[in-house]
Amino acid sequence: MSVRRFEGFRWEDVPLLAYKDGGPYKGVTRQVLFEGDASLPVQWRYFEVAPGGHSTLERHEHLHYVLILKGRGRCLVGETVSVIGEHDLVEVPSLAWHQFRAAGDAPLGFLCLVSASRDKPQLPGPAELAALRQKPEVAAFIRP
Ligand code: MN
Repeated sequence: MSVRRFEGFRWEDVPLLAYKDGGPYKGVTRQVLFEGDASLPVQWRYFEVAPGGHSTLERHEHLHYVLILKGRGRCLVGETVSVIGEHDLVEVPSLAWHQFRAAGDAPLGFLCLVSASRDKPQLPGPAELAALRQKPEVAAFIRP
């Protein structure tokens, strides 16, 4: 189907999935909007983080291109915590630690484009967590 209608932050014929199998997270759903093909080897997803929720703190070699579509919150990319809101763009470079958190009183919904062939996310171990926590604003933000 060429056109799939949008209503209430759901898309026609797109199932609402769990965020992921592994890794700690809170209140996140996933919808896979486009699966790509050999001529465009990407996956285009919509994630929604419930108020007070967060994605997994992780890093990997593949990039994320993110567009905030709904609500507001904050994100960590590398060593920087930023306030984010509707229509902001977030680029997550290769191997940058990243985590998205919704505001306490608003969800955070975002489109995320990734390569179809991508490496598995890495979670921080004790040494990586200690390094991240060197910066007080990062220490206060992360939910490992
Ligand atoms: Mn990621």
